Amino acid sequence: MKMRLLVTGANGFVGRALLPKLSKAGHEIIAPARQEYDLLEQARVRALFRDVEPDAVIHLAARVGGIMANKTYPGEFIYQNMGMNTIFLEEARKAGVKRLLYSFCGCSFGKNSPNPIKEEYLFREGGLPDENAMFYSLGKAANHLQLVAYRRQYGLDWVSLIPGNAYGPHDNFSEKNSHVVPGLIRRFHFAKERGDRKFTAWGSGKPVRDFVYVDDVAESFVLALERHHEELPINVSSGVGISIKETMETIASVVGFEGEIEWDASKPDGHMVKVFDVSRMRSVLGFEPKVQLEEGIRKTYDWFVKHQQEARL
Ligand code: GDP
Repeated sequence: MKMRLLVTGANGFVGRALLPKLSKAGHEIIAPARQEYDLLEQARVRALFRDVEPDAVIHLAARVGGIMANKTYPGEFIYQNMGMNTIFLEEARKAGVKRLLYSFCGCSFGKNSPNPIKEEYLFREGGLPDENAMFYSLGKAANHLQLVAYRRQYGLDWVSLIPGNAYGPHDNFSEKNSHVVPGLIRRFHFAKERGDRKFTAWGSGKPVRDFVYVDDVAESFVLALERHHEELPINVSSGVGISIKETMETIASVVGFEGEIEWDASKPDGHMVKVFDVSRMRSVLGFEPKVQLEEGIRKTYDWFVKHQQEARL
């Protein structure tokens, strides 16, 4: 069914991959500019719903960043995300929005969750999430609980998705605030240009992550709009674990950096093993990611080289 969709965070990393796919599926998209509707201002959020009158909402707007950004700005992360989301969901409910897609993150699971991580483990297994990103990850998960509460009390068909470690074009490539794949693409690229012989990576290289290319995340969101109606969120990832060391070697080889890699143990490792159970992604969404890690890194690096002016550095 063709819908009039309000998409927040449309200019962000996932939003940019999602918009063309939603258009292709025939939906009408309204993507408000941040300057026009400040989502931390309740009156502006109310005005947004009044002005747009959407059939459905995809709420992607968030304050995001990698492990160091989370460590440095925990207060901003928790306030901006929880402040915005709490207001946004409440105003969506009051505006009569029946269908809403929310996205939070794999970092919301308990730090010692068994692997692969099933959606049911959220709040139940593995204790608190990793401490470095806890203020972001628990804040995002708390607003998922708000969504669950609204489903139960008001009978709304609102659902959540949990992307794994997403990467791809339009990501944040900055040195301090980025996630590992874009951060390393950028750092290896400039190390190669400078002709460095040594490269210092963070942590021990032992953590394991489950990466997913952003176009695959976007594709799964389009399908979720049609097929996901359950209270339990759905993990969207590759379901394949790879060590940070191996990831780093793959990126170095794609970028063409030939120096030596050293590890800086004073930098945080974060969550040690984070691999997702993706069986519900397969059964409920009928979806399988298409882009393998090396191919995805290659596409991301090509994009980075061509778009250095507009890349978030
Ligand atoms: P996380 O998946 O939420 O922990 O966030 P990140 O993508 O920022 O980090 C993933 C892992 O990569 C952590 O174990 C980091 O210590 C490690 N890592 C190694 N080098 C880097 C780097 O240059 N940037 C980032 N962001 N992470 C790095």
